[in-house]
Amino acid sequence: MTPVLELQHVNASYGAFRSLFDVTISVAPGEAVAIVGANGAGKTTIARVASGLVQPAAGVVLVDGNDMTGAPAFEFARAGVAHAPEGRSVFSTLTVEENLSLSIRRIRGRKGVRSGLDVAFELFPQLAERRSQLAGTLSGGEQRMLALARVMVDRPQVLIADELSLGLAPLIVEHTYNSLAALRQAGTALLVVEQHVSHALALCDRVVVLDHGSITWSGPTIDVGDRLQAFLYVNADTG
Ligand code: ATP
Repeated sequence: MTPVLELQHVNASYGAFRSLFDVTISVAPGEAVAIVGANGAGKTTIARVASGLVQPAAGVVLVDGNDMTGAPAFEFARAGVAHAPEGRSVFSTLTVEENLSLSIRRIRGRKGVRSGLDVAFELFPQLAERRSQLAGTLSGGEQRMLALARVMVDRPQVLIADELSLGLAPLIVEHTYNSLAALRQAGTALLVVEQHVSHALALCDRVVVLDHGSITWSGPTIDVGDRLQAFLYVNADTG
């Protein structure tokens, strides 16, 4: 089966600083893969390379088997790769419903707006309660929910979820992860970067452990065992 997303022997640099070394990761259709590692290990850089926001210095990025190396981020999006929360922008002078409708209309057309809104509000009932509120007046967490809902109604082929729980209250984190599980159930593959390792592990089939820009272990979640303790000297929220 052709992976929906593949990084092959990727190196990445920020100026003189080398942040990724020979990273190879593949995500099969419908699969969920977690990337874990300490602060500064390079997790976000992988997420950015995988969605065209950072160009690799070497290596290849494939989407659905097509070489996308060097393509701009919008072409990754067009190919079905969604990146959250980088795509978090909401239109602050539009209401919650208008924000959602814009995204839905782009994907499903005018006729699909009502059913799309139902999907979004089912995923995030808290947004339904605030459907007429201007997005700019939502709390930070609610704005992130709205941004995520906009990405999720797209039903992307693969969603790159980078630190979705950052700054969200525990109950909302729980809810966000339930929404991710539902999205996955509907067929979207996931590449998950998350400091709350327990959430990522509960959701994902496979784990990639990153240390100083290199993959030190990868395998099925059930085999990860004590390895996380060894690799994650911070934020080892495995409880
Ligand atoms: P965290 O868990 O703290 O978010 P991370 O694993 O996501 O970390 P990255 O954000 O990918 O790590 O950063 C990897 C390394 O690249 C870090 O050492 C970071 O300081 C460096 N880096 C990231 N972005 C830039 C940039 N724009 N310019 C220079 N260095 C950068």
